Amino acid sequence: MYFTNVQRVCVYLSSSDGLPAHAAAIRALAGEMARRRITLVYGGAHRGLMGVLADEMLARGGRVIGVIPRALVDLEVAHRGLTELHVVDTMHERKALMFTLAEAFIVGPGGMGTLEEAFETLTGMQLGYHAKPIVFLEVDGFWAPLVAFLDHSVRAEVLRPEVRSLFRTASSASEALDALLAW
Ligand code: AMP
Repeated sequence: MYFTNVQRVCVYLSSSDGLPAHAAAIRALAGEMARRRITLVYGGAHRGLMGVLADEMLARGGRVIGVIPRALVDLEVAHRGLTELHVVDTMHERKALMFTLAEAFIVGPGGMGTLEEAFETLTGMQLGYHAKPIVFLEVDGFWAPLVAFLDHSVRAEVLRPEVRSLFRTASSASEALDALLAW
C-alpha cells in the first residue's frame, strides 16, 4: 500500500446548517484532523457547516486556511479568526487556490457549491490532470442517492466503471482520513 504524506486537507461542505447529525459529524472530523495535526483548507466562511468545521478546528488548536472571494466576504460572513484568510477576486480563483493548497480532499454534506467543487476535483482526476485523493464523508446515508445515480450512470453506459471507482465514501472521519493516506 502506498501512503501519501497528507498535511493539508481541503474540505468542501455546505454553507447551510444541515441537520444536527451533519454538524456532529463535522465536529468529529475537525477533532480527528486537529488530533492528527492536519491543516484544514476550506472556503473561509463562518456560515453553516463551514463555520462549524472551522470553529471546532480552531477550538482544538488546529490550523485553518480559508479562501473566499471578495464578493462573498459579507454574504457568507468571512471567518475573521482563521490562521490565514485569503481574499481572492473570483470563484475560479477560490477553487484554484484551495486545490493548490491541499494535498487531498474530503466532501461533507452540501449543496450545489459543494458538488461543483467536488466534481471538478473528480473530473480533474478522471482526465489525469492530478492524482490528489478525494473521499466523501457519509453521514446518515446522505450520499446514498448520489451513489445510486452514479451506478445508474454506469448501467446506462455513460460512466466508465473505472471512473465510477474514483467516487469513494467513508463512514467516519478517521476512515476518511485513513483512505486519503492510503490512496
Ligand atoms: P453549498 O454547498 O451550495 O452550500 O456551497 C458550499 C460552498 O461552495 C460555498 O462557500 C459556496 O460559495 C461555494 N461555491 C458555490 N459555487 C461555487 C463555484 N462555482 N466555485 C467555487 N465555489 C463555489
